[in-house]
Amino acid sequence: MPLVQACPTHPSPYRVRADGWFECPAGHELHPGDIDLDGPTVWAVDGSGVLRYVVDPTASLEEFGDVLDALAQGVDDCPDPLGMAHALIRMALSSCLDYVDAFRVGIAKSA
Ligand SMILES: [Zn+2]
Repeated sequence: MPLVQACPTHPSPYRVRADGWFECPAGHELHPGDIDLDGPTVWAVDGSGVLRYVVDPTASLEEFGDVLDALAQGVDDCPDPLGMAHALIRMALSSCLDYVDAFRVGIAKSA
């Protein structure tokens, strides 16, 4: 499930207003331009109007491809081949789940 962006003064989510700003239940406002994101994270508004963070689906697909490439190269030369294979499969699953999270809030990979 995509992360909810909560108001910093209490654990309530921000919801979008008709004017495009966000507001928590206590009336604290957040302008979209003030949303601070790290790395490949992007923000979105879910179907109930809650501000959420998701991984950019382009980055998720790139990570998935990188994991497939690593698996294709093989893990036999690793000190712990089974452990490495498990780690790569977990990374692939994580990137797929990130992609689904973005899709659930209406963000699809651009062409
Ligand atoms: Zn608040």
